[in-house]
Amino acid sequence: MTSQLTVKTLLILGASGDLTGRLLLPGLARLVARGRADGLTLVGAGSDPWTAEQWLERIEESFADENSQADTEGKHELKRIRQESTYHQLDVTAGGQLAGLLKELEGPVAVYFALPPHVSQLACEALAPEDVPAGTRLVMEKPFGSDEQSARHLNKTLVALVPEDHIHRVDHFLGKATVLNILGLRFANTFLEPVWNRRYIEKVEIVFDEDLALEGRARYYDGAGALRDMIQSHLLEIMALMAIEPPASVDERDLRDAIATVLRASSIKAPYRQSTRRARYTAGSIDGRKVPDYAKETGVDPARDTETLAEVQLGIDNWRWQGVPFILRSGKALGTKRKEAVVTFRPVPHLPKGFSGVDAPNQLRIGFGPDTLKFDVDVNGPGDVLSLDRATLQAELSASELLPYGEVLEGVLTGDPLLSVRADTAEDCWRILDPVLKSWAAGHVPLEDYPAGTSGPEDWPA
Ligand code: NDP
Repeated sequence: MTSQLTVKTLLILGASGDLTGRLLLPGLARLVARGRADGLTLVGAGSDPWTAEQWLERIEESFADENSQADTEGKHELKRIRQESTYHQLDVTAGGQLAGLLKELEGPVAVYFALPPHVSQLACEALAPEDVPAGTRLVMEKPFGSDEQSARHLNKTLVALVPEDHIHRVDHFLGKATVLNILGLRFANTFLEPVWNRRYIEKVEIVFDEDLALEGRARYYDGAGALRDMIQSHLLEIMALMAIEPPASVDERDLRDAIATVLRASSIKAPYRQSTRRARYTAGSIDGRKVPDYAKETGVDPARDTETLAEVQLGIDNWRWQGVPFILRSGKALGTKRKEAVVTFRPVPHLPKGFSGVDAPNQLRIGFGPDTLKFDVDVNGPGDVLSLDRATLQAELSASELLPYGEVLEGVLTGDPLLSVRADTAEDCWRILDPVLKSWAAGHVPLEDYPAGTSGPEDWPA
């Protein structure tokens, strides 16, 4: 996915923030070092009274890894972009300040809102359409609102400023090579399509279990929880790619239409006590590392009942998927890191008499880190020739040349919204989860607990 840059200046609002330092600048560095952002100007802005030197130091730190591996040209371009970069102190929510900066910068400008979500909303509301020069692109980070209504409100605010195809809602999971590999696997091979439906598939699980705990992110996470943080956008997007109809092309319109169509048919059925579960970790240890009780972590308000593990079962009401459960699960502080989509096929209709041993369903496993593809099949095992055994066909998938944020930024800089979440999809993801969030807030689904380092509450399958 390489084409000409349509953006001259990348303006990062929230220059001092965690996202900028840990993910955005390293993603940009990879692009720059590979000659895929030649001529771009980088500008940082934030409420901190930073000197130009402090900003340049931050860039240098975040570029360091890439710089150590870059060739001479790459090193030169990384140096150029850093040396030419400027920092502007401003309060983005104060009328006129961001508008004034936009007038000064050489356009077209991509404005990256690496800000707390409510600040991004206020910053956009502080802009008038005439403050935003033609060609400007607005790049929004997740979460896009906090429910369906606020997502609608945000979308209205954005589309009053620039056209929808100039709005990039970033879900960096769509920049992960293995997530995009779902498309190649499904639509560039004939053998899967005939069995990729309710007749042959029993269930689909999408799991993102982390062994990391809160890691000092209470300010954000305690107000979000696992359902909003992981399932709301990331896992729903993966589910959509697993379930979409074959698109005519993988351009932004066809692919995003296909995603929107499948999400519109998706819902979580009440009663939520049966179709959803939530839990929170208590004190424990992971690989010998002590993890405190979530409720006692600095910055956590235990009365909020924030879940650190969430599981929901969705249904997709269409011809292909009717009756097939899609189970989405994500949790923190678990004993085992597990990031994969697992497709479980139905059992064979009849196993010839005389076979013994394993008779387990076929499973296709798409790993999202490490990036792997595994297919579990039953075969005649060693020893007794009619005794069945399990074999796994496995492929290691090569990672993308770019980091996920590099892929996302390349889309922004080349004016291609393919990997960005479209307005209707952003709203639909909330439409799917809003009733669950309300039911949980009303206490209709109990908040279970699990010691950190385990696989979750005792009766949850790992
Ligand atoms: P941080 O709290 O670390 O950073 C927020 C930044 O916004 C700071 O630089 C802060 O500057 C700046 N800021 C706050 N208010 C203003 C203001 N009024 N005017 C100008 N600048 C302001 O947040 P993150 O970097 O973690 O997150 C940013 C966004 O990215 C969020 O939407 C988050 O959901 C999303 N995200 C973050 C991820 C991560 O791993 N961090 C992953 C995926 C998404 P100051 O400190 O000076 O106030």
